[in-house]
Amino acid sequence: MKELLKHLGANFDEIERSEIADKEFLETLDRNICQVCGSVGQDRRTLRISMLYQLKEISDVFKYDEDNNNYRINMCKGCRSTLMSHLGTWIKERGRLAVPGLDDDAIIGFSSAEEMIAYRDGK
Ligand SMILES: [Zn+2]
Repeated sequence: MKELLKHLGANFDEIERSEIADKEFLETLDRNICQVCGSVGQDRRTLRISMLYQLKEISDVFKYDEDNNNYRINMCKGCRSTLMSHLGTWIKERGRLAVPGLDDDAIIGFSSAEEMIAYRDGK
C-alpha cells in the first residue's frame, strides 16, 4: 500500500506513522472489544477489506494490517448485523441504477437538477 500511495503523491511519512500505529494497535488489540461500538463480549469477528483505497479517510476505525495488505475491523454481532443490512441496501440501490447510459464508473449524468430529482423519485 505504501508504494502505491507514494506513487500517487501521498505524504509518505504520515502513512508510515499511521501504519506503525495500526500495527501496534492490532498487536495489542483485545479481540473481545468491538472496534466500532466498543462493546465487550466473546462473539467478535473480523471484517477485512482490500480495495486499493485508504480507508482511514472514511474512519480511523479501519486499521491497516500490513501482513495481509488489507484493513481490519474487529466487530460484534450487532455491528455485523448493521453492516450486512447496509450492504443489502447498497446492493439494492446500485441494482436500481443498472440502466442504460451509465459511464465506465457506473455514474448517471443528469442534464438538470429536475431530471436527477425525477430519477431519484422514480418518475
Ligand atoms: Zn459493535
